[in-house]
Amino acid sequence: MISYEVVDGGVRVTSETGTWFAKRLVLTVGAWAPSIYGRDLGASFPLKVVRRCLFWFKPKEGAGNRFDDIPVYIYDMGSRGNFYGFPSQHGPPGGVKVAFHYDDPAVSTECTPDSINRTIAPAEVEAIREVLKSRMPLLAGTFFFFEIMIYRQLFHMTVILSIFEYAGLTRLHFFLSLIFLEYTSLYLSLSLFVGELIGATTCMYTKTHDEHFLIDFHPHSDRVILASPCSGHGYKFCSVIGEVLADLSTAGETKHDISLFKLGASRLLAH
Ligand SMILES: Cc1cc2nc3c(=O)[nH]c(=O)nc-3n(C[C@H](O)[C@H](O)[C@H](O)COP(=O)(O)OP(=O)(O)OC[C@H]3O[C@@H](n4cnc5c(N)ncnc54)[C@H](O)[C@@H]3O)c2cc1C
Repeated sequence: MISYEVVDGGVRVTSETGTWFAKRLVLTVGAWAPSIYGRDLGASFPLKVVRRCLFWFKPKEGAGNRFDDIPVYIYDMGSRGNFYGFPSQHGPPGGVKVAFHYDDPAVSTECTPDSINRTIAPAEVEAIREVLKSRMPLLAGTFFFFEIMIYRQLFHMTVILSIFEYAGLTRLHFFLSLIFLEYTSLYLSLSLFVGELIGATTCMYTKTHDEHFLIDFHPHSDRVILASPCSGHGYKFCSVIGEVLADLSTAGETKHDISLFKLGASRLLAH
């Protein structure tokens, strides 16, 4: 869609491939809403788009199928915000989804669909691992990590000293073997016992200042419906939002209570 115009009896939409006419137009443009709605409503309509990172971790060996049946969860850490996720995904790439939901400036930077930085920084992975350490250690892994390190050290010392004694090797052989074993087993420990990050990507939240959805008729015409089921939780409700939008566009009303999502005066003021 390049533009739309309210005309007699409906709306005319111009796209790159032609001109279209309909009785009503539903604008569900996600992260593009600030620019598209903003054209008409200007700065009085405060929507903000923020960048978020999502991660998929493979649980540690030994976690079995514990993550297969967990519910879709959101974990409230009080003043430290919250994170959410889904159970193990079957099929590639697999893994348990984990992501921060809250609006901490450290984890969400304002962006546009054109300017968003799609690269995940190592510090962003560390931040989520840090939280998982205490809340979901089977994903972060570090809970058992130090125990494993100590057992590993003791085991290596014993094995190498025995070989050293038996084969009459020199001290140099002893230290070289120790270093070799340290590195290879560190690698194995990490891959076996630390939740492996198998996927990471970015997404955009289109947020209203009160974090509720926006579903309402355009303030200048009931021929246009604005629907940005936003603030990062619209997807969970897409079936009912679809029903509401079908009602509004065909009947001009809905039996669902959408008063919370309307463009009231308080929501139009810039915050
Ligand atoms: C990787 C990822 C993971 C996510 N995880 C979750 C989750 O776990 N839970 C959750 O609730 N939400 C999640 N979200 C967010 C969720 O996807 C959004 O909240 C939801 O898709 C918003 O729906 P929408 O219809 O408002 O916008 P979108 O789904 O973004 O749709 C907007 C559409 O408008 C189109 N568009 C824009 N401008 C124009 C134009 N001028 N002409 C024509 N078309 C246009 C775009 O191409 C796009 O297809 C995730 C998002 C991503 C990317």
